[in-house]
Amino acid sequence: MPLVPMRQILEEAAKGGYGVGAFNVNNMEQIQSIMQAADACNSPVIIQASRGALKYSDLIFLEKLMEAAAIKYPHIKTAMHLDHGNSVATVKTAIELGFTSVMIDASLLEDGKTVASYEYNVETSRAAADLAHQTGVTVEAELGALGGIEDGHGAGIAADDTTHLTDPEQAVDFVQRTQCDCLALAIGTSHGAYKTLRYDKDGNPLPPKLALDRIEVIAKKLADAGYPAFPLVMHGSSSVPKDLVDIVNRYGGKMPNAMGIPLQDIQFGIARGVRKINVDTDGRIAITGAIRKVFAEHPEKFDPRDYLKPAREAHQKVVEERMRAFGSAGRNDDYKPMTLAEAKAKWYAGAPAGVK
Ligand SMILES: [Zn+2]
Repeated sequence: MPLVPMRQILEEAAKGGYGVGAFNVNNMEQIQSIMQAADACNSPVIIQASRGALKYSDLIFLEKLMEAAAIKYPHIKTAMHLDHGNSVATVKTAIELGFTSVMIDASLLEDGKTVASYEYNVETSRAAADLAHQTGVTVEAELGALGGIEDGHGAGIAADDTTHLTDPEQAVDFVQRTQCDCLALAIGTSHGAYKTLRYDKDGNPLPPKLALDRIEVIAKKLADAGYPAFPLVMHGSSSVPKDLVDIVNRYGGKMPNAMGIPLQDIQFGIARGVRKINVDTDGRIAITGAIRKVFAEHPEKFDPRDYLKPAREAHQKVVEERMRAFGSAGRNDDYKPMTLAEAKAKWYAGAPAGVK
């Protein structure tokens, strides 16, 4: 079965009132553990790769691993998504590799560091959408700018800086002009394992203060403008569970004050229109903790399988927990898979030709 367009997964999630996790991958073990989790939970899934992942895997390895996932789990609705594409050229590369969804993040300039103007964001996102829609590929765009830096991407905006949050007044204009299929919001989440600058009197980290009320406002404005149930996306939404961080720290790691987004905040967002939730850091922490534990307890081991297998299991466990918490578990068989050609005919029949 081919991979499905992400828009189908998100529209079905909107119908069912649940969210779908988008989990980042760089290598075989991560793809395996996410697909095993989706299979175990009978959940649709979004697998996403950043520019850093494409570079790390030399493109071709990721492409073939993705194909392998679709062959091994033909019954799981899977979308392969480019995370934070920085330019139309990067989007084009991902489409040629067989991705069924792309993010164009023109909230920053092509350097992935400098906050861009609104007009630049609109024009670049629209160009990416025009290209992607020609082949039925889904497009995610971002309005506002997210905090933190990951994989060299990000303006380094502090977790408590509210000046770059998504402006609800711009959301309808942005969606209309860019023709994006889903919208990434900046509501105070940030990339990485340190999502807060708030601490209690004993110095323990407190969850970041999010502008969750904006989700409802934006969803309502879009609905009023003729976009009912428009899929919204939460980035930087790992929960950074204390038990996983503790494992890392217990076995020689150093992640003081790591703090993520509480699951109940994500569930609050899902109830108000968030359909895609990006989770990367949680998988990284689970994998690192499992590997550190083997190294600490069995220093005589030197076969990579001895630590990659427990790492894979720990990663699978956290992904399964997210699929249940977001409500996508058990929803995989609700609908039939759609091809990119069908997506094009249904949603983008008017897309301009000849850009590719
Ligand atoms: Zn992101």
